Amino acid sequence: MKKNISKAILLLTLLAFIGTPVLKAQTKEQIEKALNEAYEKFKNLKEGKNADYIKELASVDPNIYGIAIVTTDGQVYTKGDLKSAVSIQSISKVFTMAKVIEENNPKFIMDKIGVDATGMRFNSIVAVEMQKGKEINPLVNPGAIASTSLIKGADSAAKWKSILQVHSDFAGRQLSLDMPVYISEAGDNLRNQAIAHLLYAYGRMYFDPVQSTDIYTKQCAISVNAKDLAVMAGTLANGGVNPVTKKVCVSSETVKYVLPVMATAGLYDDSGQWLYATGAPAKSGVGGGIIAVVPGKFGIAVISPPLTPAGNSAKAIQTIKYIIEQLGVNPYQITPKK
Ligand code: GLU
Repeated sequence: MKKNISKAILLLTLLAFIGTPVLKAQTKEQIEKALNEAYEKFKNLKEGKNADYIKELASVDPNIYGIAIVTTDGQVYTKGDLKSAVSIQSISKVFTMAKVIEENNPKFIMDKIGVDATGMRFNSIVAVEMQKGKEINPLVNPGAIASTSLIKGADSAAKWKSILQVHSDFAGRQLSLDMPVYISEAGDNLRNQAIAHLLYAYGRMYFDPVQSTDIYTKQCAISVNAKDLAVMAGTLANGGVNPVTKKVCVSSETVKYVLPVMATAGLYDDSGQWLYATGAPAKSGVGGGIIAVVPGKFGIAVISPPLTPAGNSAKAIQTIKYIIEQLGVNPYQITPKK
């Protein structure tokens, strides 16, 4: 009798642990199925147009279409083109922001840059002017160039080295610069130069504005494929520890403050629509990549260069939305306790 009672208690305890998961676990088969279905469904989607305000981006193959998922326990799932690389562009803003928080503290970003969405275009000069350089957000150009200027390092070369290193740590391999993209944008980035100088005038640029813009332009030209981006997103999903290499890239405390900014300002003017549909913190770049993070579960990345009018990869948006929906991993999807 006693034995039976203790058996029952053990069973109940076990059920309490495994019977009420926050979200049901995704099996290998479910992930592969969702990936394959998404690929088939969207591979022929002909929406959007390559960015062309950076000349080199206009000639990137618009047919590149790669998808990758990296789970927090280090499993890698891929589909489509994993070989082709594009420039990371604005997705880099996430990792530079993370580094600034890591080198200082979360309040530092609030004080020096701000975290509210500007509600304006990503390279808006009016946004800087209206706020006198305050509340400029690290995920759009003014706040991103200010973040770059805040990276520790004795000179421009040391700051760049540190930025490239943190990106490489997140990706789990040594990344490098797409030289033609860098040269193309560096020769033509007067608008970003103007933003940096205006911030400097307001005392909100923390290193030489010309050099800061140059480092920022380099960070945007880091070359990545879909798997690199997914490992980077997977590292965020795993609280700052790279799930493949196991390297601690930043602390989980830092990630806690990075994800909300991605959630509120990751997809330019469509950030609200995106969060409404997926619940997942994400960041896009004009090179055609999007990363999204399902905290504690996985990171996902898609590369496809043609962009919607808001500047986000058209195929990547559809693909990630579909996969998150199929796997039932929207973090706001709650199973009520009855
Ligand atoms: N390097 C690009 C710029 O500054 C990044 C823009 C983006 O991806 O949103 O214009």
